[in-house]
Amino acid sequence: MILFILKQGSDSSNLKEKLKASSASWKRLELYGQTIFLAWPDEHAIQLNDSSVISKVKVARPYPLASNEWKEKTVVNVGGVEIGGSRVVVAAGPCAVESLEQVVETAKAVKRAGAMLLRGGAYKPRTSPYSFQGMGEDGLKLLRRAGEDAGMPVVSEVVDPRDIPAFKGRVDMLQVGARNAQNFQLLREVGRTGIPVLLKRGMGNSVEEWLLASEYLLSEGNGNVVLCERGIRTFERATRFTLDLGGMIAAKLNTHLPVGADPSHPAGKRDLVLPLALASVAAGSDLLLVEVHPDPERAKSDSEQQLDLNSFRLLMERLAELAKAIGRSI
Ligand code: PEP
Ligand code: MN
Repeated sequence: MILFILKQGSDSSNLKEKLKASSASWKRLELYGQTIFLAWPDEHAIQLNDSSVISKVKVARPYPLASNEWKEKTVVNVGGVEIGGSRVVVAAGPCAVESLEQVVETAKAVKRAGAMLLRGGAYKPRTSPYSFQGMGEDGLKLLRRAGEDAGMPVVSEVVDPRDIPAFKGRVDMLQVGARNAQNFQLLREVGRTGIPVLLKRGMGNSVEEWLLASEYLLSEGNGNVVLCERGIRTFERATRFTLDLGGMIAAKLNTHLPVGADPSHPAGKRDLVLPLALASVAAGSDLLLVEVHPDPERAKSDSEQQLDLNSFRLLMERLAELAKAIGRSI
């Protein structure tokens, strides 16, 4: 794939005409404040030149826009919180928003402990249709209120493109979950919103498939994407999923996007969350997504893996020591 990067504000009509006249396939998009033409196959596209082009890059990986072959590290700004810098950003909160009291209490406690973002599910992708499905739009309203009270930007999962209007103005980041990691129509629609995206890795996806999923967001002009490893399905049953830190590192080595980890869902059990969180940060994670509930035993979803407020405070203390040891902060 050849990337043609144009001078800002320059006229792209000449290059467009040349591409049309050639036998190359191409796509024009705006990304990171630049006009980009993607063109392929390489042997046709590489011949083309135009004075509007400031750089022409040949990208070998199948995910040209996510690849770090053309761009230095991206820092994603979520409501004023920067992900991808030297600070490891911790997003914490309940698996699901259950009530105003629950989410407000959690928000205040995780903020006090040092979390920068508040997470909370309102539309829950449950394995069984009979399990608690989340509070929907009301859940988003409560999450926003709790975030405002605590002074935290919020992130919540969207499972259906038809729900996107309910998220607008209420969340600072849209999460695409493991079960929808290859729902390409959802990815396209989420990409078009321009809202920062937390893209989980599908539990059955290779690192390449995960990065190709991010390409659906980037190719809609949304460059504010953070990838999140959350465990894959393997033969191992001692954990709920196998947190693939090797895969997370491989993703980081190949993309300019920030890469994070969710230690809660692969743990499945509370006592595994702290060591998995520490391991993720030691492996270079830019973000951690941790489930926290004021009364985990009574949680309506993921009861066994959510941390109580005190355990989360202890986790943050340990993380701060580790971050310091590796030249980062939390
Ligand atoms: C979640 O973060 O609430 C969630 C459902 O995660 P995953 O998509 O990784 O299972
Ligand atoms: Mn959960």
